Order: sequence, then C-alpha cells, then structure tokens
Amino acid sequence: MADPYIILNELAQELRPMPQGIEWFEGLSAEEQSHALRLLSHFCIQARATAEDGPESIRRAGLRATHTPAVLISQGQLDQQLGKIASLAPHDERLKSFRLLIAVLAVADGRRRERFCSDGCGHAWHRLAVPPPPPPPPPAAGGAPGPPRPPGRWRCAAPLRLSRQQVRPRRP
Ligand SMILES: [Zn+2]
Repeated sequence: MADPYIILNELAQELRPMPQGIEWFEGLSAEEQSHALRLLSHFCIQARATAEDGPESIRRAGLRATHTPAVLISQGQLDQQLGKIASLAPHDERLKSFRLLIAVLAVADGRRRERFCSDGCGHAWHRLAVPPPPPPPPPAAGGAPGPPRPPGRWRCAAPLRLSRQQVRPRRP
C-alpha cells in the first residue's frame, strides 16, 4: 500500500475496510505511525471537526469513554486535543487514536461533503473512487447493457451524461 494521504481518506470514506487500515497502521514503524496520526489530525481540522463530533466519533470507533483518546477528545479545544491524541506514545493508545481520528474525519468530512459538495467540488480526496471512463461499447453489440456502476461512490463527481445517440434506441 502506498500513499497515507489516500489510504486515510479511503478509510474515512469507507472505500477501504477498517481491518485493512488497522493492518496497514500496525505494519508502520513508530515514526510512520506518528506521521500518519499527525496527518489525520490535520485532515480533521481541515474538515472543520468540532468538539461536538467527539461522542459520535467515539461511538463509531468503538472506544469506551474511559479510553485515553476518548477522554482527551471530550475536553473541548479540539485542535489542541487532536494534537495530544496524535502524539500518544504507547502502541495500544496509538492504535485507539488511529481508530478515533479516522472516525472524526469520517464524521466531519461526511458533513462537509453533504453540505458543500453535493453539486460537485474541487476536493481531490472526494474523487478517489471514480474510475476512469469505460471504453465505448463495440458497435452492433445488440444493445447489451454495460457493466453496473458501483453504488454510492459518485456523489462528488459530475453526473454521468449520456449522449442522445446512446439514449435513443437503435433501429434495425
Ligand atoms: Zn468535496
């Protein structure tokens, strides 16, 4: 797996299953883990996460209110708390912080997407799952339908427009 920027956003958007993310995170060196957590907390602030996102994020991450990152995020002053969460050192805490920050990003970025991106946007990370356009179907294929599009991944992309020629039924 490559770029943490892409992986972290894919995890927050549920384009990649969380167990895969945890496996990826566990495979990083301590230094790389810290880098990933700092990057994540930066994304959360960019996505305008607020202290009110705490409880929902704790729930989504499956943490208890007594877990250190959950305690920290419940103390207000989110930007400061995110910094503290990102710099927790013990391995267990780091893993919990990772799960929590992914959830915070999911909540805050999901909200931003809903409010501001429904008509399309310039956020590169909101177009992660849009595949390249499919090749045109071969002529005289008997009108067979193309492959189905994956559901739920198109919100930020421009709507797919068919040309008149593609829509109009072919006469024999
Ligand atoms: Zn967007």
